[in-house]
Amino acid sequence: MKVLLIEDTMTSATVVLHQLDKLGLETRHVTDGEAGLKEFKSWKPDMILLDVIMPGLDGFAVARRIRQLERDGEWTPIIFLTAKTGDKDLEHGIEVGGDDYLIKPVSEVVLAAKVRAMQRLAQMRYSLVVLTRRLDEANRELTRLTSVDGLTGIANRRSFDETTKREWQRARRNRLPLSVMMIDVDCFKQYNDGYGHQAGDECLITVAKALEEQIKRPGDLVARFGGEEFVVVLPETNAVGAFRVAEAMRAGIESLALPHAYSNGHEVLTVSVGVATAYPGPEDDELSEGWLLDCADQALYEAKKGGRNRISVAQLKPATQFAIKNADR
Ligand code: GH3
Ligand code: MG
Ligand code: MG
Ligand code: MG
Repeated sequence: MKVLLIEDTMTSATVVLHQLDKLGLETRHVTDGEAGLKEFKSWKPDMILLDVIMPGLDGFAVARRIRQLERDGEWTPIIFLTAKTGDKDLEHGIEVGGDDYLIKPVSEVVLAAKVRAMQRLAQMRYSLVVLTRRLDEANRELTRLTSVDGLTGIANRRSFDETTKREWQRARRNRLPLSVMMIDVDCFKQYNDGYGHQAGDECLITVAKALEEQIKRPGDLVARFGGEEFVVVLPETNAVGAFRVAEAMRAGIESLALPHAYSNGHEVLTVSVGVATAYPGPEDDELSEGWLLDCADQALYEAKKGGRNRISVAQLKPATQFAIKNADR
């Protein structure tokens, strides 16, 4: 424990330093307020013993300045040393940021007791700071866990729902296109039945990674919707751009060449993709992101029906299909 003594009277300082020494504390002594503030900043003491009456800055001014210098959450105990014993002085001392008083000449027993009490307070406060920090970390981790899929480590359905809701509103406000896609692994039941559930899980992890590799923009999101289904949201992306990403994802999975001997039709693992793009505006208040996802799901169904390992694009209501303005993604 580092104790800074700010005291201009040498006789008093010598006595106090001797007593602090006996308590096994590390000490530094300065004889005026300015020097005290300098030590406070550079040495960072754990406690300050502060004389009140000094030439230049007096103890009250020093205490006030120290409280201003401390950053949020910091606190250095300050004990005033004074010959003044009036109630008003004590009140003033506490008001400017002091924590306790010692009457000069300082009694060795009282000094030891007060130092110990302050030490205890400082320790308790420190534990609290550590605890709060741990709590913050735990909270951050919790937030992360609520938005991440446990198996694949990519975003989960919850974060997809949040993102699409937000992006739908943004697209409406700014008349921007919004694309979503639904991706489903083909014949995955047979994969599980043939290779085992463990292999199925590993396959899903591989697929999730491969899908994520295909998105390049910071606003794009790939999430696991559940089971062997994935969803993608592409803000500010028109139908042409969305199709391009969908094809990159489909081809990306096929080129992984993961053997799937139990699939009907293909020898490797494949996915089917349903894509839907909307161009909503502020007037489209009867539609929602949920509707857009339903459209993508319908398209996915068509892709399955059409033979799998393919992309199907939803044909949306004309109202939301006005001119494909931004031809390039
Ligand atoms: P389709 O080509 O029509 O999509 O057929 P499918 O077999 O992929 O579709 P279906 O919905 O009938 O089966 C999905 C299977 O995915 C069911 C289950 O065995 C498997 N599955 C779902 N979630 C998980 C998972 O978390 N881990 C593993 N290993 N398998 C899963
Ligand atoms: Mg003095
Ligand atoms: Mg499915
Ligand atoms: Mg499937």
